[in-house]
Amino acid sequence: MGNRDTNINTAPSTCVMLCGHERKINGKKKIECLECRSFWDINSLTQQFVYDESYPLARGHYEDSIGNLKVRTLKKWLQLSHTVVAGKVVCEVGFGGGYCLQFLNYASAKVYGIEIAEANLSHACELGIPHDRLINFSALPDRLPEKIDIWFFLDSFEHLENPDQFLSWACSVSSPGAEFLIVSPEADSLSERMLAGFWPHRVADHKFHWSRKGLIQFLERFNMKCTLVFTPTKYVTPYVVFCHLAHKYKSTFCFNALRLLPSWNVPFNIGEMGLKFTLKE
Ligand SMILES: [Zn+2]
Repeated sequence: MGNRDTNINTAPSTCVMLCGHERKINGKKKIECLECRSFWDINSLTQQFVYDESYPLARGHYEDSIGNLKVRTLKKWLQLSHTVVAGKVVCEVGFGGGYCLQFLNYASAKVYGIEIAEANLSHACELGIPHDRLINFSALPDRLPEKIDIWFFLDSFEHLENPDQFLSWACSVSSPGAEFLIVSPEADSLSERMLAGFWPHRVADHKFHWSRKGLIQFLERFNMKCTLVFTPTKYVTPYVVFCHLAHKYKSTFCFNALRLLPSWNVPFNIGEMGLKFTLKE
């Protein structure tokens, strides 16, 4: 998340590794950390990217059927990660279409949502999330009415351009022992190594890819301990898969035709990791 037209687009060789490690190696397609194997995708760095209203539309983020699958997926992840939201104040960062936020609003004591895209904030409002719980990423308040007990980064942590700054803020508005649930593509996973540039997560809006080691060590600097690792399988339809392929390869074929694809869905995971952290008290 953040403004994508920063100077990292024009000078990838000068990129600082977000993981905080010093040793790196510049290859043809990656600038890779030699300590933890997190990397900058050079193709992605050289592409301009702006979050506008086309972003959620191209991914079908506002479609009920896709939203329902995301909620079903989140429920599975809550089980796998032994995360209980009942009675808790929760915050989802980068909530996209807002369907999971809507579920969390129903299942928890209180929900907050943070987003960069105005269209997503408006859509969440339409889904019934109270206006005063929706926060624009570019205007984070100094404090919130309540401390956050559980944070959700569901395919959003890898979009943070300045994770240092964001986590400093998040910790300042967290309750003691707060939990952070992160699902993210995993650099240095088997599929990432095998598929290289064809890895489906290497797209224009994913510029920095975290390895598991890099993410764990990074959050440890914020007094957080990784307490659980799980495999975050997703329920997807062929429509969702083709939408993401079209995005990766910038195809302009008719999305309406894709709706004719079968509506069955299957569990799916290509190199994604699920990690749960607890803020030490
Ligand atoms: Zn590193």
